[in-house]
Amino acid sequence: MGLDVQALREEFPILQRQIDGHPLVYLDNAATTQKPQCVIDAITHYYSHYNANVHRGAHRLADEATKAFEAARDTIAGFINAAQREEVIWTTGTTEAINLVSHGLAHILEPGDEIIATQLEHHANLVTWQQACKASGASFKLAPITETGELDLAAFEALLNSNTKFVAFPHASNALGTLNPIKALTAKAKAVGAWVLVDGAQGIAHERVDVQDIGCDFYAFSAHKIYGPMGMGVLWGREELLRDWPVWQTGGEMISTVTYTSAEWNVLPYRLEAGTPNVGGAIAFGRAVQWYQQLNVAEVHAHEQALLASCTEQLSTLEGLTIHGTAPNKVAVVSFTMNEGHPADIGFLLDRQAIAIRTGHHCAEPLMAHLGVPGTARASFAAYNTLSEVDALAQALGKVKMMLA
Ligand code: PMP
Repeated sequence: MGLDVQALREEFPILQRQIDGHPLVYLDNAATTQKPQCVIDAITHYYSHYNANVHRGAHRLADEATKAFEAARDTIAGFINAAQREEVIWTTGTTEAINLVSHGLAHILEPGDEIIATQLEHHANLVTWQQACKASGASFKLAPITETGELDLAAFEALLNSNTKFVAFPHASNALGTLNPIKALTAKAKAVGAWVLVDGAQGIAHERVDVQDIGCDFYAFSAHKIYGPMGMGVLWGREELLRDWPVWQTGGEMISTVTYTSAEWNVLPYRLEAGTPNVGGAIAFGRAVQWYQQLNVAEVHAHEQALLASCTEQLSTLEGLTIHGTAPNKVAVVSFTMNEGHPADIGFLLDRQAIAIRTGHHCAEPLMAHLGVPGTARASFAAYNTLSEVDALAQALGKVKMMLA
């Protein structure tokens, strides 16, 4: 039967918005997805009915908040097939999750050790490792990409050696859409004994994620890219690593006992969660994942791939338009430039036609430099986008071309 996209759209109040009298066409989902009513309700309900600090309170509200907060952790653990709920660490997003790991790594690595990342990285999965290398004296290497925007697997493998202590790569590229063979990459890195982190920011809402099956050590993702709230994310890590991972933020909650001169750390997951958490955010994140899980994920996948195929096909017919990232395996992201104008002009002129895309370097400045472009215009799709929205984009780009010519 396929995904009932119209029914899905009705769950998203923002999709009913008009821009200058035209229906909003929201194609900036790689930046952030919109939120269904049930997620918005989960936040409102928390703040209107049981807002309280968690774990410490001796009253009804604190008890309810704690239960819902920890139940959300169970939901996420189940969603990614974590072996233990304690492996799910709340963070403010992918960026903070990666920082938690890189901060620890800076204390663990030594001169002579090597970290490998890729030319595809978002700054969050790049600058973090540069810093860890600077702090520890380890060296930093980058696996190159091919013309199509895919990782050069032979070159990746050639970089691996007994000094490789840590390997990081994105599940999917936010700038090009390339979907990486994360299980195979992980296996290669594990074969030389390295720890592996997958930046799942662009994978979590499009691909089935089973962290045990992937075989990685860390998987980081943000709630706001999978229909959940902003300011919320998860670091999943294997228990035997997280148990002893250097603590990074200290303060309340992450301790077991404290004296005026010293402290002992709490057990997982709390030892890596200092301070009052974003309780409402965690609960709403859990709700978003439950909502997503009740969709038929195979249907969502097929629908998004149909959007990608249609967009790629239609945009390819526009003369002077170049699509950057032509890997056979992609998430529904189409990044492009036009001979007629700068990406910022394209974005502006599409906005005038009620079409929201993203333009610029997509927090992947080195990748843009590698491609030899100042930035790109990027259309990115979610489950609620329609084929007619893709048509609208293609038609609008035809107009943009004329306006800029
Ligand atoms: N990595 C990738 C591939 C991303 O697309 C993003 C978000 N654009 C991030 C990391 C950072 O995510 P956040 O800003 O939610 O922390």
